[in-house]
Amino acid sequence: MTDPRRALPSVDHLLREPAIAALLDGAPRDAVVAAVRDTVDAARRRRAGPPEDWADEVRERLTLRTGRSLRPVLNATGVVLHTNLGRAPLARAALDALAAVGAGYSTLEFDLHAGVRGSRADHCRALLSELTGAEDGLAVNNAAGGLVLALNTSAVGREVLISRGELIEIGGSFRIPEILEKSGARLREVGTTNRTHLSDYRSALSGETGAILTVHRSNFEQRGFVATPAPAEIAELAAGTGVPWLCDVGSGLLIDLAPWGLGGEPRVPDAVAAGAAVVIFSGDKLLGGPQAGCLAGRRELVAGCRANPLARALRADKLTLAALEATLALYRDPALALTEIPVLAMLTRTPAELAAQAGRLAAACPAELHPAVRPGESAVGGGSFPGAVLPTTLVALDAGGLGPDGLALRLRLGNPPVVARVGDGRVLLDPRTLPPSAYGEIGAALRHALDLAGGQRVP
Ligand SMILES: *Cc1c(COP(=O)(O)O)cnc(C)c1O
Repeated sequence: MTDPRRALPSVDHLLREPAIAALLDGAPRDAVVAAVRDTVDAARRRRAGPPEDWADEVRERLTLRTGRSLRPVLNATGVVLHTNLGRAPLARAALDALAAVGAGYSTLEFDLHAGVRGSRADHCRALLSELTGAEDGLAVNNAAGGLVLALNTSAVGREVLISRGELIEIGGSFRIPEILEKSGARLREVGTTNRTHLSDYRSALSGETGAILTVHRSNFEQRGFVATPAPAEIAELAAGTGVPWLCDVGSGLLIDLAPWGLGGEPRVPDAVAAGAAVVIFSGDKLLGGPQAGCLAGRRELVAGCRANPLARALRADKLTLAALEATLALYRDPALALTEIPVLAMLTRTPAELAAQAGRLAAACPAELHPAVRPGESAVGGGSFPGAVLPTTLVALDAGGLGPDGLALRLRLGNPPVVARVGDGRVLLDPRTLPPSAYGEIGAALRHALDLAGGQRVP
């Protein structure tokens, strides 16, 4: 028997094949040649020998070589602020703003009236004050950076009082004690893990104290025998001693979501009203904008942050500022914010809407997968509302011989990739995080996954 691997075509021969030569129209010659070489090498190593269709395999390998690594995906997990999938999708207005600003020149650091240099820190400044009630505002690259900036500005070389119950890890190797030390301030723990009283802060205050820091326990809940002073009490204590109270609220919630069953998350305007010297929050969590860190607070402290050389290292770029300004502007009309900001729209979808959407999504799925709708739960994600239960309707798919993990893998490797949940032996799709305009694409992705399965087709 002859070894099929012996009769492999040469790279030159393959490059003359019309279907492969056509790839040269869309990709650099070097990349196509390399993809052909990869294909021939793989065929040589493979027991089965040459591929059924050379051009198909070359095309796939070319995509592997030249494809982007940062790509859009369809999020069918129902986790609204999915940190691994990029947290908040942007509002139309934010996308328009960043495209317009990115496509040309802008007023990033230019004062049109005076015709001279302006300040990038002026963007979003008035909106942050207006929407939070604070005297002044500043946007930097992310909230972790905002916290470092506020700590460094107010307490470098001095003590920062923080409750032992708030020495937390946010995720992605962001731990409050480590961040605090890196800012140049010194950690001074007060209280206990479950109970911290105002008197604990009071007795730790000294000439060495640079600031009091409170951090919202974003990603977990404490229940049982617990105590934390009320925000107004901390504000009063801080004001009485002239020490600034820095309040890290994390998620940047500006409006009340309690009517949708989402209560308990601190709102930025409430923290400002309670008397925080500066409130620090993310742009891409519940605020629903781009990755950014927002500071809203007292004039002198925010001015100090702005003038701190660290602000240069942590500055936000023009695309961020454009998208953040457009997102913030939507909050001037809270009803508009709820419909236009995707995170808020997804969180406030009613169970009835979700049931109807699940029905339409199921109808777009191939019948071989026996799509069935069933009640389920979505999650807010992004370390916000950790205990919240968001009722939804899921579409459950029976992957047959392919198995749920096999189908989920093929969906992830598709184009566009679809990220789904697996549970109870089914692939589960949650319409909460899918735009209805994507149902057709989901159906096509599922059919493609089944075609790839070939002989393994579901019975
Ligand atoms: C998420 C979070 C941060 C970090 O925000 P980034 O914008 O991701 O840097 C800081 N503090 C709290 C309480 C958070 O929840």
